[in-house]
Amino acid sequence: MTRCGSVNEMPSPIVVLSGGGGGARLAGALSGGAKGRPLVVVTNTGDDFEHLGLLICPDTDSVLYTLSGKIDPQRGWGRAEESWLVFDELKNIAGPSWFQVGDKDLALHLLRASVLSEGQGLVEATHTLARQLKVPDTVIVVPATESPVRTHVLTDRGRMAFQEYFVGQRCEPVLEHVVYEGVDAASPSQRLVDLLNEHGTHEIDVVLGPSNPFLSLGPILDIPGMVSLLRQQARHVVAVSPIIGARALKGPAAKIMSELGLPVSAAGWTLWMNERYPELVDIWVWDEADEGLANSDALESFDIRTTSTVMSDPAIAHQFGAWLLEACASEC
Ligand code: GDP
Ligand code: CA
Repeated sequence: MTRCGSVNEMPSPIVVLSGGGGGARLAGALSGGAKGRPLVVVTNTGDDFEHLGLLICPDTDSVLYTLSGKIDPQRGWGRAEESWLVFDELKNIAGPSWFQVGDKDLALHLLRASVLSEGQGLVEATHTLARQLKVPDTVIVVPATESPVRTHVLTDRGRMAFQEYFVGQRCEPVLEHVVYEGVDAASPSQRLVDLLNEHGTHEIDVVLGPSNPFLSLGPILDIPGMVSLLRQQARHVVAVSPIIGARALKGPAAKIMSELGLPVSAAGWTLWMNERYPELVDIWVWDEADEGLANSDALESFDIRTTSTVMSDPAIAHQFGAWLLEACASEC
């Protein structure tokens, strides 16, 4: 499946598919040093929901905060040096307090509501917010679709919307199935299509960030036409494992894999991704901790590469980003 690109004078972008955690971290790692190549970050919209009459886009916002250096590094979501005056008062007056919104975070949601009400679509509004937050000009953050796609989960406690499962019930219900409501009628956002088509086929590289495959990558990749668009335009598609040594660094990815009866390992993730999205990925990136798993017969035909993938601080993340760029450019 080798697809080597022609040399183009215009630097071709690196396209990262991202949720709000591992994917956002990876986007941050690549934003500083993509060797002159612009970075396009395609964000998951399956987590988006309405709260206090405002559209909240948790994954897109985490990406915007990460890329503008404003994310709270401890929590991994929301703003650093946040204050909670509005949220505390909401609790005082018996407002909805199951979803935490800090004051600075609220300012962004208000601004998004304002530009949406002036007629901007989600993609344009995201671009406006990115500029106002001072995300570097070399990075374009683009929601995967402008059509409403909403993740719902079927669990042992019934069907529920993503935020009810994730925040309201802290991922405790046993997950049986995931549905992306609205996905069949959705299409990739036009801005993304244009960005990818600006370049010749096989010139861009696509990186699937180490995001939750069921809750972050699925709502992007299941948009009709998305996989074929990426595959048609990409030189290489590289996927980074969110599973390291039989666990996820954060969030429910490992719990969900086990509840779905999948082996919880980088190997289990690779085989599931390949079955679900056949022929999409050229290079599989695992953490070096999992190197020993790569020798199995089932993985014989897979191009698996290992390195240190834990982006525990900016310098290490940057190193990983540089390694990934080399991997994108290599023969496979
Ligand atoms: P969410 O939207 O907040 O759930 O975030 P994502 O879906 O983008 O990412 C969640 C996944 O990122 C989890 O399964 C983590 O294991 C993974 N993750 C977080 N940080 C890292 C990291 O530094 N390296 C790797 N390889 N995975 C990471
Ligand atoms: Ca998310």
